Amino acid sequence: MKTMKRAVITGQKQTMLIDTGIPTPKENWVLVKVHAVPLCTEYKSWLSGHEYHGHEAAGEVVQVAQPGKVKVGDRVVVMPGAPCGKCPYCISGEYIHCQHFYDIEDFTGVAYGGDTHVQYLIKQDWLLVPIPDGISYESASLACCGLGPTFGAMENMNVSATDTVLITGCGAVGLGGVVNAKYRGARTIVVEQVPYRQLKASELGADLVLDPNDPDIRSKIMQYTGSIGVDACLETSGRVEAQRLCIDVVRQKGQIALIGECGEDLTIKASPDFIRKGILLMGQWHYNLNGTFKIMKVISESPIIEKMITHVFPMNKIQEALEISATHACGKIILKPWEDDEK
Ligand SMILES: [Zn+2]
Ligand SMILES: [Zn+2]
Repeated sequence: MKTMKRAVITGQKQTMLIDTGIPTPKENWVLVKVHAVPLCTEYKSWLSGHEYHGHEAAGEVVQVAQPGKVKVGDRVVVMPGAPCGKCPYCISGEYIHCQHFYDIEDFTGVAYGGDTHVQYLIKQDWLLVPIPDGISYESASLACCGLGPTFGAMENMNVSATDTVLITGCGAVGLGGVVNAKYRGARTIVVEQVPYRQLKASELGADLVLDPNDPDIRSKIMQYTGSIGVDACLETSGRVEAQRLCIDVVRQKGQIALIGECGEDLTIKASPDFIRKGILLMGQWHYNLNGTFKIMKVISESPIIEKMITHVFPMNKIQEALEISATHACGKIILKPWEDDEK
């Protein structure tokens, strides 16, 4: 049996590379040789010792089980998850909300069939987005969570050059928000407390960067918007205080997208917070598959796209990559499954 390398979390702050079998594609699933693996929230699993091995990737199709939507040699971005492909959510492009995900182990025979911290993975052909010529695997892979969630939110909110956008939290998702907002020509306010990320947001073109601990943050935002408030808020930090800030500074008839996951309760007063402000509050996880053409346009045309990527490591340096990820002194970190230390 042919084998491949796979990076696994083996305990609290512990990782190792193991040799393991290459999964076999069947039906409309294809085998992808992985060339870029963006890290997302895996550092949280690494800190707690919980096994979780990625959901973002870009690579090359190397084997198909049957003729379909992609062919051997195609360069593709791998969309997350294993949705059914048949339900109304899947058919309408909202596959991330599918309620009938495949049981990967049952279907592929291996539990890691859907992991992305690997040299090869299998995926349904319709969840592979072609990468235009001239775009690197690393940049293309930002079409996963780097740009995806905020792109989806801005599509839903119709963010344009007439808008002022507030982005709370500037991890990789929030930084992607800055890239998306600047691509659309919007004025962009960022709230972030980690100095590295404050600087990164400025470098990407954020017009105003504020610290969430600043006691005058509300008045500064109101002043910046001519006492009107923000048109569109994107909450990516997953903090209740930031959710509250968005509700407080959004303008009348403004919009808020909650993107950062949060385990705490947000207290909402229906009248002053919603009814009398007339605001629209939405949850945003990812983006509709019909947005892939546009998101590739952002990647190919944005002059700042590569600045989102702050670290690239060979996959055997995953320990170091997760350590940096956990410090928050980074933008997007990308692993390269086929490079070793010497390169
Ligand atoms: Zn489905
Ligand atoms: Zn992700």
